[in-house]
Amino acid sequence: MRDIIEDELFSSSVIKDLHALDFDYVPEELPHRAEQLRKLAQMFKPVLNNIAQNAVIRGPVGTGKTAIAKKFCDSLVNIARKQGKIIEYVHINCRKRSTDAMAMIGILTHFDQRFPDRGFSVQEMLQILHKQLKRREAQMLLVLDEADALLKKSGSNLIYNLTRFTDETIKTDNPISIIMVSQKDVLSELDSSTLSTFKRSNTLVLDKYARDELCDIVTQRVGLAFHNDTVSSDSVDLIADIASEFGDARFAIELLWKAGMAADQQHVQLVVPEHVRAAKAETYSIVTETKLQNLGKHQLIALLSIAKRLKKDGTAYANTGDVEKTYAITCEEYSEEPRAHTMFWNYLKEIENAGFITMKLSGKGQLGTTQLISLPDVPAEVLKGKLEGLLR
Ligand code: ADP
Ligand code: MG
Repeated sequence: MRDIIEDELFSSSVIKDLHALDFDYVPEELPHRAEQLRKLAQMFKPVLNNIAQNAVIRGPVGTGKTAIAKKFCDSLVNIARKQGKIIEYVHINCRKRSTDAMAMIGILTHFDQRFPDRGFSVQEMLQILHKQLKRREAQMLLVLDEADALLKKSGSNLIYNLTRFTDETIKTDNPISIIMVSQKDVLSELDSSTLSTFKRSNTLVLDKYARDELCDIVTQRVGLAFHNDTVSSDSVDLIADIASEFGDARFAIELLWKAGMAADQQHVQLVVPEHVRAAKAETYSIVTETKLQNLGKHQLIALLSIAKRLKKDGTAYANTGDVEKTYAITCEEYSEEPRAHTMFWNYLKEIENAGFITMKLSGKGQLGTTQLISLPDVPAEVLKGKLEGLLR
């Protein structure tokens, strides 16, 4: 018994640094966000002359809003320090701190670890903040992450109070700059007096990542978190394909992490597409028994042929030619007459429309207009088992 537990605890892993797969880990480089970092630097140039600036970072989930805010603010703090300027960077998650008082307590704990979490009014806490900044001869760079949560619950009072003292054209001793981060258009939720302190032009919009961008992000993360040569390039491709539906880097990294865990569970040294499919299935699967039961016999056989090929070849994609051959053989197993090519093609389309497979045109190096089929949602092994059960 003890041997089993010890074996598992000390068994080797494809992952060399689990921390690099954390959601709040920010890598040294952010691929495909250099332009956006440059824009932020342009917006915040006046801060080096003690003039406050405000900005908004907006975009869908997983587009790197939090990562870019952290990376930019850390860099700005370091660059300012070299010029003898002190910037206190405070990052507040407004989903966790959605009232003015809770946000202020979060800000003040940055200056004093033991700041009490009750006993002061918001106005008192604002005064304490100003004293803290004065004493340190510092300015503040405040990121209100998920700012819509604060605005929804408490309105724009706090933002108004924080920015009120700092006119962006005037040099002050302890200016407070604010970056609001949100999926939503938070500017439209500010009241008019607060809005006037926020420049509309200082909005950075982040778009969903395209497939190839996700591929680069995942490749970088493989290098940071995994041992050499433990993740096949096919797996990286498949992760990028799956996550590109949402353009979400977080989802891509989650798939990578879970695929690594799946490989570890089998004690193998290589993450292959089958592990990625298992990771996706665990995250959420659109393959349900009922949906399968709605398919006809030949569609089921065609889908089974795809699962068989992917499992046998261990690849991310199967080409239609190979699948059609397997289909003919599988039909024989179930005493069915294989249908002609055009019918087979229709089956594939129906299976695709039902959401079981995705198809894309093959790239260069392949003859003709062959299509590549992939199974994004469920491990081929699992699907094969279910289909064989249904066809019996
Ligand atoms: P958001 O705040 O927009 O929801 P995050 O900044 O939290 O997204 O990013 C989600 C995950 O993806 C994080 O783990 C982050 O490190 C990673 N990530 C996002 N963009 C990049 C990028 N350009 N390069 C590397 N990792 C990225
Ligand atoms: Mg975020």
